[in-house]
Amino acid sequence: MRLLELHCDYINVLPKKKALKSIGELSEDEKKGVRMENVLVVFSSFEEGDDESVLERAVVEIQKNFKEVNADSVLVYPYAHLSHKLAKPALAQTLLDSFLIKVRAFAPNAQKSPFGYYKEFELKCKGHPLAELSKTITSETLQTQVKTLGGKDAEVFRLPSLFEDYGAATPKTLKPTQTLEARRNTALLLLAHAVQTELGGKATTGFGKDNEGYLDFEGPGVSPETLNQLESAMHALQQKAWPIELKKTGKNAEMPNRYLNEALSETKAKEVLVQGFGKHTYFLPGPFTKTSQDVSAFALTKFGGSYWKNNSKNAKLQRVHVQVFKNQDALLEFKQLQKEAEARDHRKIGKQLDLFSIHEEGVGFIFYHPNGMTLYKELEKFLREQYEKRGYQEIKTPLILNEDLWRQSGHWDHYHENMYFTEIDGVPHAVKPMNCPGAILVYKTKPRSYRELPLRLAENGVDHRHELSGVLSGLFRVRAFTQDDAHLFVTEDQILDEVKNFIDFIDFMYKTFGFSYSIELSTKPEKAMGDPALWEKAESALKKALEKNKKKYEVNEGDGAFYGPKIDFKIKDALGRLWQCGTIQLDFQMPERFDLHYEGPQGKKRPVMLHRVIYGSFERFLGILIEHFAGSFPTWLSPEQVRVLALTDHENAYAEKVRDELRQNGIRATADISSGKIEGKIRDAQLFKVPYMLVVGKKETESKTVSVRKRDGTQKHGVKQQEFMKDLLQEIRERRRHE
Ligand code: ZN
Repeated sequence: MRLLELHCDYINVLPKKKALKSIGELSEDEKKGVRMENVLVVFSSFEEGDDESVLERAVVEIQKNFKEVNADSVLVYPYAHLSHKLAKPALAQTLLDSFLIKVRAFAPNAQKSPFGYYKEFELKCKGHPLAELSKTITSETLQTQVKTLGGKDAEVFRLPSLFEDYGAATPKTLKPTQTLEARRNTALLLLAHAVQTELGGKATTGFGKDNEGYLDFEGPGVSPETLNQLESAMHALQQKAWPIELKKTGKNAEMPNRYLNEALSETKAKEVLVQGFGKHTYFLPGPFTKTSQDVSAFALTKFGGSYWKNNSKNAKLQRVHVQVFKNQDALLEFKQLQKEAEARDHRKIGKQLDLFSIHEEGVGFIFYHPNGMTLYKELEKFLREQYEKRGYQEIKTPLILNEDLWRQSGHWDHYHENMYFTEIDGVPHAVKPMNCPGAILVYKTKPRSYRELPLRLAENGVDHRHELSGVLSGLFRVRAFTQDDAHLFVTEDQILDEVKNFIDFIDFMYKTFGFSYSIELSTKPEKAMGDPALWEKAESALKKALEKNKKKYEVNEGDGAFYGPKIDFKIKDALGRLWQCGTIQLDFQMPERFDLHYEGPQGKKRPVMLHRVIYGSFERFLGILIEHFAGSFPTWLSPEQVRVLALTDHENAYAEKVRDELRQNGIRATADISSGKIEGKIRDAQLFKVPYMLVVGKKETESKTVSVRKRDGTQKHGVKQQEFMKDLLQEIRERRRHE
């Protein structure tokens, strides 16, 4: 069942003519239509498989919202356009009647608009945050999120929507502990206090995961200086060894600001825990340590903007991130790493090397400059060469596709909050957040035979996903990115070989960049779709593939997506940081949803689909590469591979000739024939991290040689021009990493 709930000032509905022949006539009263005010309008599509239990759950949902928005009545409006798998009319009608009876239990004057008629309606929507809600309720409970390709750190921390987990008065949260969780929460509490006392801000709520957390507050914009100020204040507070007071309170207790009042009133528990220091009270998730002294090793790591309840319609807030550590040594190590990371920050180097920019006119979107484009093209070229060798075929599918498709793929249900929508010829469309449906439509253009499988369709597809502005970060978190995506359509028996080939592929790619990596296998979750025998077969194929490639891996038991198991690859960069980039995911669901087939030797069969990426996204991978190499790219990637430096004006012509010959051979070369001194020219080239400088003076001009100076400062004089070029071309061809 699908619902769209609108809290309206009013709605006028007038039945026009029959849409279904089998429908009976309307009474005179019904023909006049209906007007209702301050009404929760529930557009409802009844679907195949809906039953009483679905209705009951839908009623709970509606009742909750009905109370929340304080509406006077409910209008149940049968609305076919919400679903592509509608129940048969007779069943839908029965369900509608039963539904209305259930709704009337809490909204006695609830009404329905007639079923099976075209209706004219006019309404005015209230427009407050809860005024428009949509929901899918099914008899299965497979409401798992569509997991996104591209890794765990691409996930947004999300606030629990109605603060249900917050401060519930349980023994667990009452008892002080020293766990990581408790120390993190205490650090959040110190931060909340510092925000109020230091900045005069209004601390709202916080959220934590493992050793990291953040706090949102209303207050002045944060700068690196503010971060230091807050951190010092937290240390001072920590030194005071204040006991952390926990108070049980009712939902209606008066909190220090409107955000906390609202959060408190929205909790489900009757009694909740609030925390405080003296007269200051906060409302954060427990548990906590005994005193403020119990958390000593912490750091404020990041800041940005956010919105109250992560909803951009609400008040704008500031967000500060905190991390806690095992001990002081771990903290020091972190600070050291942070310093190194700052020096390698891809945003800084991106500017220095003129690679890309981001503009106010398109927040979260990347402008590639010529140098950045060179890097992008080299990454693409590398991949395409391998695609040729490894039997992939490339496709390109549209950025915008109609909404029905996204409903069928399940993205609309599970992912629509992150999608962008538009309309073409009055038909709702969406900008693609993933490339899978495009590949599926290509697969479906003709009957497929088992002889065509495995079919490997690659697409460097541009995806748009909405991210809150506060979490955007250079190339790492963007709103539009290009995935090096591919979808493999295989028979069940081909899973092993395909996964094996992929592991070999990804190993080759990552080694070229000098990344070591770790592997995680995620297996069947409790709630999973598909034949258990197929799951078993698939999981054992994944394990076998890993073992055949002699790869060590960790198993995340039960952590797979509900539609199939997967293998994730985490690369380790020069600073030892881990980045999840590559993944291969089996999918038993999409072939079902889209009813995919191939003709096997013994008749029609369903293929298994594999989604896989290596870079993840070009943008993010490029960001990682910039930081990994600190801008000193291997020659094959370098935007400028060779710079010829003329010692004096007399050598300008020769310098240009050398440059031109290099260019003729496909090498990215420039010549510095400015009037400056050679020392200055060398410094400029070094700042630009050019792998090779060729210094040419009188001697070189006469002997047709070059003096080769590498980026690391080593030099070789009197090198024959042709010899240099031959070696260089080989280095580039082999994609060697030197230094
Ligand atoms: Zn996919």
